[in-house]
Amino acid sequence: MRINALPSGNGFNFEISHAPEKSLARAGIISTPHGDIATPAFIPVGTKATVKAVLPETMKELGAQALLSNAYHLYLQPGSDVLDEAGGLARFMNWPGPTFTDSGGFQVLSLGVGFKKVLAMDAQTFRSDDVIAGNKERLAHVDDEGVTFKSHIDGSMHRFTPEVSMQVQHQIGADIIFAFDECTTLHNTRRYQEKALERTRLWGIRCLDEHQKLTLERSEKPYQALYGVIQGAQYEDLRKKAATDMAALRSTDPDSPIGFDGFGLGGALDKKTLGTILTWMNEILPAQKPRHLLGIGAPEDLFVGVENGIDTFDCVLASRIARTSAVYTMVGRNNLSNAINRRAFEPIDDECDCYTCAHYTKAYLHHVFRGKEMIAATLATIHNERFIVHLVDQMRAALIAGDYFEFKEQFMGRYKHLSGQARD
Ligand SMILES: [Zn+2]
Repeated sequence: MRINALPSGNGFNFEISHAPEKSLARAGIISTPHGDIATPAFIPVGTKATVKAVLPETMKELGAQALLSNAYHLYLQPGSDVLDEAGGLARFMNWPGPTFTDSGGFQVLSLGVGFKKVLAMDAQTFRSDDVIAGNKERLAHVDDEGVTFKSHIDGSMHRFTPEVSMQVQHQIGADIIFAFDECTTLHNTRRYQEKALERTRLWGIRCLDEHQKLTLERSEKPYQALYGVIQGAQYEDLRKKAATDMAALRSTDPDSPIGFDGFGLGGALDKKTLGTILTWMNEILPAQKPRHLLGIGAPEDLFVGVENGIDTFDCVLASRIARTSAVYTMVGRNNLSNAINRRAFEPIDDECDCYTCAHYTKAYLHHVFRGKEMIAATLATIHNERFIVHLVDQMRAALIAGDYFEFKEQFMGRYKHLSGQARD
């Protein structure tokens, strides 16, 4: 039995309980002031302090251990000061557990480039039209100090710097927060990737300084763990450099310099090389610190993440596709709107233990999707979130039992995969 061991005394800790030999995979527990997260774990996304269409109580019941929201969206609406006054994100949204916030870097930098595209932001070095959607206005501009952007809500101008991102995330009050970084795309030139990486490193130091200052100033608040973000696109030397740099990064306080509590692995990632790129970083990052893979959540990619040393994942894919009537099953994705489901008086997946599968048929879901009823999104989201949360739970159980690769072979032998990287 594990006693609440918090050597650092701040309420945040990571303890690895199982790490199979000859693999980067591990199972463990992240402790936060709002509770523990058994890892590996999938963290569902509630971008604007709500998992669209589903009650937080239901998210808890379906096994979600933590939720991830977005600093950029909450800063614009309702304002991070409102969340601060409400007692922080978890209390504000009636979520009885740990929370994460994404720093806003990705969202701010992707403004105006089309939401499904991964982005880049330097007017001089754009070399590909498909980085920016043709008819879209540029809404963000990056410089060494930070990013100036136009609100997608009302067109007002705002500026995010590493300091502002830390201030906003401290006000929001999630247990795990991310350093402000510059996300690039696979289309950027190598020269630009180097430049962006150095900028992210320098921003990392500024984030650590501001985080340390705010943690002291707000010492009555629960401790927030800060993760540094590793970029470097598809380049081995840049990914390795970023991992080495971020692991060594410290605040400038000469008396008690602090480092990152964990790491977020981000940026442009190609499905085919995902495992290799994760290995480059995770062989360098300190094993005792937790690692979060940003925006990845398709079943086949979760396996690649877990066996290459990822502890937590977030992705909007499960809930986003659910709202378009696409659901996961043990044999691949199914679309509930398809005519074949009209008289399918059976659950989405016989093997699923979710509330939707226990009480509703595909025929009913087909009917409510066709009729554009609100319950359609609720029921499909419950199923998809349970499917993904449970899949990663099963990976953890298999790691602990020592039969992870057997489990993977069994699952992937039946599952037909489709792609998916998605952040809101
Ligand atoms: Zn289900």
